[in-house]
Amino acid sequence: MKLDVDVLRYLSKDDFRVLTAVEMGMRNHEIVPTELIDRIASLKHGGTYKVMKNLLKHKLLHHDASKYDGFRLTYLGYDFLAIKTMVNRGVFMAVGRQIGVGKESDIFEVATEDGRVLAMKLHRLGRVSFRAVKSKRDYLKHRSSYNWLYLSRLAALKEFSFMKALEEHGFPVPNAVDCNRHCVIMSLVQGYPLVQVKQLSNLEMVFETIIGLVVRLAEHGLIHCDFNEFNIMIDDDEKVTMIDFPQMVSVSHRNAQMYFDRDVECIFKFFRKRFNISFEGSTDDIEGSEVDIDENGRPCFSSVAKNVGFLDKELAASGFTRKEDEDIKKFIEDGTDSDAHSGDEGNEILENVSNFEGASIRDIDSLHLHKQDGMCEIEETQENSEACGSCESETQNEIDKEEDSHNGIENDELSKRLYKQRRRAVAAANGGRKKTHASRNSYKDKGGRSSHSSKIQKQLSIW
Ligand code: ADP
Ligand code: MG
Repeated sequence: MKLDVDVLRYLSKDDFRVLTAVEMGMRNHEIVPTELIDRIASLKHGGTYKVMKNLLKHKLLHHDASKYDGFRLTYLGYDFLAIKTMVNRGVFMAVGRQIGVGKESDIFEVATEDGRVLAMKLHRLGRVSFRAVKSKRDYLKHRSSYNWLYLSRLAALKEFSFMKALEEHGFPVPNAVDCNRHCVIMSLVQGYPLVQVKQLSNLEMVFETIIGLVVRLAEHGLIHCDFNEFNIMIDDDEKVTMIDFPQMVSVSHRNAQMYFDRDVECIFKFFRKRFNISFEGSTDDIEGSEVDIDENGRPCFSSVAKNVGFLDKELAASGFTRKEDEDIKKFIEDGTDSDAHSGDEGNEILENVSNFEGASIRDIDSLHLHKQDGMCEIEETQENSEACGSCESETQNEIDKEEDSHNGIENDELSKRLYKQRRRAVAAANGGRKKTHASRNSYKDKGGRSSHSSKIQKQLSIW
């Protein structure tokens, strides 16, 4: 799916009002009846139908008349709502190129007002590789009954909450900046996924650090469950950062031992294949840990001093509820239990991307956000309104409230602010930024494919 953020600048306040109305309707309708959208949006001069036609044209809505006449949001529509909310919150102000394609996510660079570059992960649960489409019809049939937007939102919230908690406990993870709907904003890791790395000068040290992470996680009550070369980033100093947390489980999970062993095995297998080195039997202890090592050099799950309380405590504090955890777990387990390893599908997709030398990335298009005069018309939509409410007048009030609070800002003042922001961002893009990311994700620097690390200054379009 193509995320053409350019369209954003053509969207009016009414477009967003209707888009928000559909989102609200989707709290209790898979397909929102057209009349209900009209009532929730309650545009002052009517015209909801015309607006819906426009949203349909830009693929922000999907029309479904199979049971009754209605609409649902597409991922693109959901992307726009999340992006607009984040921009209105001041989290970032421009979207750059796509830097990652996950199994069920897209990752983009975004720029803040002061020229810092962050990573934006848009969760896309329900997207599967062609291999899965071919070989897992039953699995798909089962999964089609899920509400993808809801699950993507949960995945984002879970990822954000875990990232924050892990960061607070000193784990090497990106800094969790913000989260809205299915979108997570985090710091950009200055490194390469381990899968792209062809040589390491401190091979043994990196290996031990990575295995040490699996053990330390378990000591904190957690198992990553997708701990592989795609979810471990290495920088030029060979510092390790782990990413990708929506599938993490507690060590009290019924399959915890299997997940733990699988994570460990994945790392042993990768190092054996990639670096032709076997660490079997070579590890006799893990620094800073009391864990027992078996005769093959693997840490024993049963001997990990687990602190089960960690997960519940931290996540309760972060707002990720047990019910939400159950919902997402149900979905993820349906997926991972039927996969040999959930990472494998992702591997296939990413290998395709690498083989095409970035062609897939280019096909998806770099994103362009430009300053638009009508920017001030884009109000914050439905923020903090995730609680389920079936009353449509209530939702109407919500929209009205948000509009009122927005209208409190003088348009003039806002235009001035936007103009200033844009000038600052253009200055930053033209070289004001101290550090570029020219070597990030570049195979060349690590002995792999040649670099296509075009400078973000050129790629970023400024809103
Ligand atoms: P998925 O859950 O779909 O597998 P990931 O979180 O693993 O998504 O991200 C996919 C890819 O995007 C990663 O392999 C990595 O190359 C890139 N990526 C993800 N997060 C970041 C980040 N914070 N900084 C830099 N690159 C990232
Ligand atoms: Mg991943």
